[in-house]
Amino acid sequence: MRIDALELDFFRNYVHLEADFDPAVNVICGDNAQGKTNLLEAIAFLSGVSHRARYDKELIRFGVDRAFLKGELTARGRDFVLEAELHRGSRKLLRSNGVKLKSSAELAGIFQSVLFCPEDLYLIREGATARRKFLDDCICQLRPRYAQALAEYRRFHEHKTRILRDSEEKPSLLDTLDEFSLGMAKAGAVLIHYRAHFVKRLRETAPAVHHDFSGGRERLELRYETVSTVTDPEAAPREIFAQLLAHQESHRAAEIASRQCLSGPHKDDLIVEIDGNLAKSFASQGQTRTAALSLKLAAREIFQQDTGEYPVLLLDDVLSELDPKRQEFVLNRISGGQVFITCCEDDRLPMLLGGKIFRIKDGTIV
Ligand code: ATP
Ligand code: MG
Repeated sequence: MRIDALELDFFRNYVHLEADFDPAVNVICGDNAQGKTNLLEAIAFLSGVSHRARYDKELIRFGVDRAFLKGELTARGRDFVLEAELHRGSRKLLRSNGVKLKSSAELAGIFQSVLFCPEDLYLIREGATARRKFLDDCICQLRPRYAQALAEYRRFHEHKTRILRDSEEKPSLLDTLDEFSLGMAKAGAVLIHYRAHFVKRLRETAPAVHHDFSGGRERLELRYETVSTVTDPEAAPREIFAQLLAHQESHRAAEIASRQCLSGPHKDDLIVEIDGNLAKSFASQGQTRTAALSLKLAAREIFQQDTGEYPVLLLDDVLSELDPKRQEFVLNRISGGQVFITCCEDDRLPMLLGGKIFRIKDGTIV
């Protein structure tokens, strides 16, 4: 999978950009705040991933009403032209080879990328939300059925949360509670099943990456944590469904009393340990970065096993805080697919990778 060309109009700090990329290595370098991350963000956007912007309109250049992105790419032996039009006032328009797409999820079905950025350190350091998002993003790209179940689950979860919240003023709302609990359990069972299988594959892949990465010195361990009544998260959704219902039932009174959804996979976590210690609490900065990157590179391997192609790898500011050995490991590990890597002007290592070098200054290639 690779992106051959990119065109941008009024995207972030780019007024207009046209770029042709190398099929293997693209080094994006420049001083701070010139547009390196923005360029990776544009590529990620075309693969249906929005990692920095909460709202699409943040991507539109200040003072302008619309932005345009166009990527020419090759995936599964076919050529695609993906286009996105963003408007401040209305919904975005997405097209693949001229045909309108319904949502970003459809972009993700055509073009896959794996992005590593400084924010990914949250993946290790912060609460479970970031790790659930990592699992969700990966599985959504691989399994359309998962994306569907996730959307359903969120809808039921939102409704149920609202019912619980407003039930004090309007107790009759609770009449419909069980209906939404049932919906959550049904969709939730699918989520747990897929998450468990994905984590299983991560466990087969990520520890080896981390082991090499740390020069054989560190042991990474991963564990999927879900609703306590689920005995085998890898089991068929039907089986998990019954166990979820049982958990909900036993928490029904507590949910009504606390007016919160206490039961369900929206509380899942991916436990990350390094040498037996919880990474969230004990990992150093370098270890945190190493572990986060190992997860991302493992996801890339899994995509490759699944689809036969490497997704495009986007590495933003990956080398800082790594000692030279770990830096070298990263640069050796990323061969195989197409990669974009940002760096500051004076970083020497990416230059050693060869490939095409783009110097970015104030939203233009110089
Ligand atoms: P660093 O090395 O510090 O990470 P960078 O080259 O990755 O820098 P970017 O994050 O790409 O920098 O941002 C470049 C500039 O784009 C910033 O100065 C930012 O303020 C600006 N910018 C962000 N969003 C918009 C927008 N919607 N319109 C115009 N400019 C924007
Ligand atoms: Mg940046």
